Amino acid sequence: MAPTVRTVISPGRYVQGKGAIHQLGEFVKQLGSTPLLVADDLVWGFVGHDVETSLKDADLPLHREKFNGIPSAKEVDRLVEVIKKTKADIAIAVGGGSTIDAVKAAGFLAGIRWANCPTVASTDAPCSALSVIYTETGEFEEYRFFPRNPDLVLVDSQIVANAPVALLIAGVGDALATWLEARATSRSNSKTMAGGLPTVTGTALAKLSWEVLWENALPAIDAVKDHQVTPAVEKVIEANTLLSGLGFESGGLAAAHAIHNGLTAVPQTHGLAHGQKVNIGSVTQLVLEGAPTSDIRDFIEFTTRVGLPNTLTEVGLRADDRESLKKVADAATVAGETIHSMPFEVSSEDVASALATIERYAGNVREQAHLPAPVPYVAHH
Ligand SMILES: [Zn+2]
Repeated sequence: MAPTVRTVISPGRYVQGKGAIHQLGEFVKQLGSTPLLVADDLVWGFVGHDVETSLKDADLPLHREKFNGIPSAKEVDRLVEVIKKTKADIAIAVGGGSTIDAVKAAGFLAGIRWANCPTVASTDAPCSALSVIYTETGEFEEYRFFPRNPDLVLVDSQIVANAPVALLIAGVGDALATWLEARATSRSNSKTMAGGLPTVTGTALAKLSWEVLWENALPAIDAVKDHQVTPAVEKVIEANTLLSGLGFESGGLAAAHAIHNGLTAVPQTHGLAHGQKVNIGSVTQLVLEGAPTSDIRDFIEFTTRVGLPNTLTEVGLRADDRESLKKVADAATVAGETIHSMPFEVSSEDVASALATIERYAGNVREQAHLPAPVPYVAHH
């Protein structure tokens, strides 16, 4: 593709609402006749019955394969074999971002269609035409890009509201980064994950995601603590899943996600959600940009109220552990990382310095705003 081309990509159909799961069979039937459902045992325990009923009502057969937890190259290859064995013509991920990433990659390799039924709104993985592949131990390995997006993304808002609120909070962290990164990509006129330059459409969707979240995230989080679906919850699910999905893919990623990828290189951060690590990336990107102090303060205050980490302490790191920070910064700035879409050059030293400063910066902002002090994170293996 010529570097001057601008492009937007999106899933074939997006469906969201309370009880949407009951229409899964009806929508899948338009796409294939032999679905393979992939879900881990925990998720299947919650939604398996409803999925089964919906497929049965649409006269579709039911094959469920257990997902093994990490979207590694090995797990993807295993799912490809299952697809071939069952002669499935559509693979459907039921679960979170990891299940979804594995199923997209497997569906593509097997040459069949794929659909996603996210049971949480914790990442913007469901709508995109790419997967993030991790090593067996959970370190970032590579992005895999596919020639098309999922044919269907179906989200049942009640299922999302029934999940632990921490997952919705992580999704807000992932989605807030979308605008910061799309804004940087638009300023530098760099290529997006969709394989072309950003369109005004992609950039505008990223901004809309940000606005919806500032307005609705706090009331939505309160509602989900009681497992209720309110209009604010519906808006946040859409922002985390659809707006952020289209916004990051067609608007562009920059420093925040590269720093997230860097954070996966040190064991101290393992066990944290994607969106939690991304939020550290967002704060660090704002510092790298030399963003207005009031913007950085507002972001730290807001994300603290949301329940996202914005200090090193909260992701198991320390400002004086220069060795770990260097490791994170080196991984965040390798050739090909999205940090090179920033409108200025960013070196590993720049990232290490910015990371080291967020501890005191965020700590002071929180103290002055009478917000809770950071609670140390200890990774469990
Ligand atoms: Zn993300």
